[in-house]
Amino acid sequence: MHPSDIELSVVIPVFNEGPNIGPLCERVRPILDRITGAWEIVFVDDGSADGTLAAIAAVHAEEPRIGAVSFSRNFGKEIAIAAGLDHARGRAVVIMDADLQHPPELIETFVRHWREGYVMVYGQRTDREGESAVKRGFAQIFYRLFERFGETSLPEGAGDFRLIDRKGVEVLRVLGERARFSKGLYAWVGFRQLGVPYAVAKREHGTTKFSFRKLFRFAFDGITSFSTIPLRVWTYVGGVVSLMAFAAALFFAIRTVAFGSDVPGYPSLIVSIMFFSGIQLISLGVIGEYIGRIFAEVKRRPLYVVAERIGGAAQTGDTLT
Ligand code: UDP
Ligand code: MG
Repeated sequence: MHPSDIELSVVIPVFNEGPNIGPLCERVRPILDRITGAWEIVFVDDGSADGTLAAIAAVHAEEPRIGAVSFSRNFGKEIAIAAGLDHARGRAVVIMDADLQHPPELIETFVRHWREGYVMVYGQRTDREGESAVKRGFAQIFYRLFERFGETSLPEGAGDFRLIDRKGVEVLRVLGERARFSKGLYAWVGFRQLGVPYAVAKREHGTTKFSFRKLFRFAFDGITSFSTIPLRVWTYVGGVVSLMAFAAALFFAIRTVAFGSDVPGYPSLIVSIMFFSGIQLISLGVIGEYIGRIFAEVKRRPLYVVAERIGGAAQTGDTLT
């Protein structure tokens, strides 16, 4: 089939989602059939070890429009999405999770708006129920920080669940950065975008694949990929600290002149040394983060390595991109 003959591709990153594959396909297929006959599902198996790929192969056997690209190991969801966009052939591409938390019925609404001319139509979560208060709190802090310092603005509650027109897909594919923060990239692309509110469903099978540590790392990648404020803020901190030190020096000088010298100030000496060393270490660490990123980019390693392929879409696209 010629690439442009496919109207709609659905990209689904999967990491140990074996029991979800069957129910997911069953639920999504009739919806896609209602939209167009020319659809495909591209699973990106992100190094699963639980027979996820076998489950996909079983579905593929009776529905050839469902295929998969399988990584040689776990590369992370962001990279899996990038691979999905590389392999999807549709004139529009929908990205969704495998755990049925993203209601597939919404795809019809996405497509409707896409046909109205929107290049990107994204699902917007109306609530974060089922998430712990701590997680919600951190999410809120993150969005505040990003809103304040990021170079693009992120729509509230928008995630990876979205439809992207071919135009947008091609732009995203050119953005070959390694520390990928898709949410920021989607916004960066621009074009006409529209949000569609939806309620997140409960996870069908299995548990979340994102630990707190992973989420924290993710948030950090987000901020540092779209803002240089952590680098630049040290100029101001340094300035303020120096001013404080200058004021203190003045204070001590005047006090010595007025009242004479008292006990030698070891405590204040130690405190200030520790304070300044701390500041220096933090700022060094921040610079290190960015240099690490530069290092990762200059190595120009491929984003991912494909080990196996199932079905048509998987044959297109390069193994090394
Ligand atoms: N996922 C992935 N690679 C990973 C982690 C997750 O491809 O390293 C997939 C996962 O299989 C699922 C989607 O990303 O389809 C969202 O993951 P999950 O539901 O665990 O995240 P949450 O909904 O808790 O944010
Ligand atoms: Mg989920």
